[in-house]
Amino acid sequence: MTRTLDDLQLRDQYVLVRVDFNVPLNTSGERASVADDTRIRAALPTIRYILGKGGRPILLSHLGRPGGKTVEALRLAPIASHLHKVLDRPVALAVPPYVPDAVHELFREADVVILENTRFDAREEKNDATLAQEFAELGSVYVNDAFGAAHRAHASTEGIAHLVPQKAAGLLMAREIDVLKQLLDSSQQPFVAIVGGAKVSDKIGVIESLLPRVDALLVGGAMAYTFLKAQGKEVGRSLVEVDRLETARDLLDRADGKIQLPVDHLAATAFDADAESGVVTDIPPDRLGVDIGPATAEQYAHRIRSAATVVWNGPMGVFEMPRFAKGTLAIAKAVAEATESGAFTVVGGGDSVAAISEAGFENDISHVSTGGGAMLEFLEGITLPGIAALR
Ligand code: ADP
Ligand code: MG
Repeated sequence: MTRTLDDLQLRDQYVLVRVDFNVPLNTSGERASVADDTRIRAALPTIRYILGKGGRPILLSHLGRPGGKTVEALRLAPIASHLHKVLDRPVALAVPPYVPDAVHELFREADVVILENTRFDAREEKNDATLAQEFAELGSVYVNDAFGAAHRAHASTEGIAHLVPQKAAGLLMAREIDVLKQLLDSSQQPFVAIVGGAKVSDKIGVIESLLPRVDALLVGGAMAYTFLKAQGKEVGRSLVEVDRLETARDLLDRADGKIQLPVDHLAATAFDADAESGVVTDIPPDRLGVDIGPATAEQYAHRIRSAATVVWNGPMGVFEMPRFAKGTLAIAKAVAEATESGAFTVVGGGDSVAAISEAGFENDISHVSTGGGAMLEFLEGITLPGIAALR
């Protein structure tokens, strides 16, 4: 069992909290600011819980991919000041090298301390024991609330957990684990999975794992064309992973008719927001599929609305281009409607969550996962190192 916050003694303790503050920044102004604070807000309940129990939170997070060295544009200062605003408590930013007494001294002025971008140190992504030890010396409790980084064994997500007397999952992490476990072990039928996005290769594991559990698996996005091609259909110049045709054929053979593929498409003359496009049932040789067509969207939406459990990862088309976003938006709407009628619905993946937010449905889904890769790996049945280390 993964331990939870209730298992911890927090009063007067320095509590190292791994959060996922890997948020998009707005860098157009004079000073960088947080462009979307969903992930910061998602960590507030855990931070408030620790403060409420008299603990002193020391937050750790990565931001972007600085590659083991200091990158000015990826400093956490804008995040610290944003956290100060939304938490309404003083926040101090500590910079390495971290000396425990000096870091603790910051609590004279602040209620929360945040360490600088963990990935500025090359040892972080190597899960180096000396860095994990430097972190561990700052506190006596470790809380991991960074589900989005739980599939990585890094010094701040894995190594550190073995070096502190007390450890537990944060509230957000605990909820992610509960929800995804429920999907795998005790989902209500009918259970419908929707899988889209760019590549079949990214999603083979999750398709394999979900197939025996679901009643239907609705495929969209570019990966649909690899499946259609595997069935011998004409897909024009659509994105196809030639080296996955065999896998796609094999999955279709074993799917017992559960895998549903698009019956019509929006086909464009080019991969371009302004390209000419039209709805087709067979993609002409000079065109490429950029979205599911309206008949497919209606068919999928109907399946989704009558489901008791829904899990969705991966957009149905190139939704970043507004004219190719209709299919994805129709699915987002159907998932929201299913939720409204009492279904348990889960959406995960960076792009899928962006699509849900854009459509304004983020509050109409049972659970919007903060993990992309982490959610996929969890659903594949892989043990995530960041979670295993908490046991
Ligand atoms: P998530 O981040 O939700 O896990 P993915 O990263 O797997 O989703 O896939 C999202 C990407 O797939 C988007 O950038 C989208 O443009 C792309 N995509 C979806 N459909 C198509 C298509 N028909 N052709 C090319 N790219 C597509
Ligand atoms: Mg993505």
